Amino acid sequence: MTLDQAVRDYEALVQRGLKLDLTRGKPSPHQLDLSEAMLTLPSTHLAADGTDGRNYGNQQGLAETRELFAGLLQVPAGQLVVGGNSSLAMMHDSIVHALLSVVPGGERRWADEPEIVFLCPVPGYDRHFALCERFGITMVAVPMNDQGPDMDVVERLVAEDARVKGIWCVPKYSNPSGVTYSDETVRRLAAMPVAAPDFRIFWDNAYAVHHLTDAPAELADLLALCAEHGNADRAFVYGSTSKVTLAGSGISFFGSSPANVAWFLANSAKQTIGPDKINQLRHVEFLRDAEGLAAHMRRHAELIWPKFEAVDRVLNKELGGTGLATWSSPTGGYFISLDVPEGCAREVVAKAKAAGIALTPAGATHPYGDDPADRTIRIAPTFPTLDELEQAIAGLAVCVRLVAAQRG
Ligand code: PMP
Repeated sequence: MTLDQAVRDYEALVQRGLKLDLTRGKPSPHQLDLSEAMLTLPSTHLAADGTDGRNYGNQQGLAETRELFAGLLQVPAGQLVVGGNSSLAMMHDSIVHALLSVVPGGERRWADEPEIVFLCPVPGYDRHFALCERFGITMVAVPMNDQGPDMDVVERLVAEDARVKGIWCVPKYSNPSGVTYSDETVRRLAAMPVAAPDFRIFWDNAYAVHHLTDAPAELADLLALCAEHGNADRAFVYGSTSKVTLAGSGISFFGSSPANVAWFLANSAKQTIGPDKINQLRHVEFLRDAEGLAAHMRRHAELIWPKFEAVDRVLNKELGGTGLATWSSPTGGYFISLDVPEGCAREVVAKAKAAGIALTPAGATHPYGDDPADRTIRIAPTFPTLDELEQAIAGLAVCVRLVAAQRG
């Protein structure tokens, strides 16, 4: 395409005065409607063991809630803690606890270390990186491939540098590439020798049950593998129902070894006299069991899958065969990762913004908001309507063609 044509297409796009938002991975109102019945639950405040859900107490969470989610998160129910509506808050608190209280196996508090480093597989989740920035944790990017993080790089860094205390992982339908870690990657993470005795894997399994097709991705059981390899305390597992039930009113989970769970509960006991058990009862009554939850997730998939297909279809139509872009085609999760020619992502996002299409800032998928190749753009297709989404992606393609043509 000539530059003239690309400019004309872009001018026509701007003329349309669009106002579309592809920034955040939020459920659409139709998805939230799937859980509308929850607003009148629970029908009893009594848990199975007679606990009065209205009162203080039961810090670890109700047994039936932990049992419902144990298998899905691959954490034994006895090693699962139920939290408030945000797993991000539990990740935040885990870091604060580690800064202030020595983690099992550690020698000193993270706050007493001269420097703490976390490995950050890229592209990754911007809010993980924001937590590191907040607590002054140095971030080191590690490239992702189609099996997960590049394990040769991870193994080398954790083995040689005791400052490396953590790694962020979104192991299933990763944000934003959609990659699910291979069995071999999970095994290597569990087994690898590490220099820091208090090294932890932050295993953010946010999309554990968020399949979009009939062929769900399988993820190896990190917690079990860590224990098998003599590294029982290595994994912190997180999850939530933010994208299962109600994003603002879900429940979250922390799972780990018995020692880590005791450490976490001892610290969180200073924060709260017990979690919202009425919401836990509400979730159990609404979702019932693993089959009930799977059926509910299929209804989400019916709403979301056409949107993922639409992104793929429009990108193929507009950019397929041009050599200007590659993109992921996830079979679960909430995001699609689009790679444009090096040095173009920021400009593409700016051009889209000027045309009324809001995208996650270029660079957000990398530590410090800095994508050194300036190449990756995260697409969040769930919130807009199908029609809005198609317009936004077609408009985005116009911006990619313009910026590429301008760069010659
Ligand atoms: N982790 C990942 C990988 C996410 O994509 C999101 C939401 N975008 C979250 C955590 C946030 O989870 P929560 O609502 O439980 O805080």
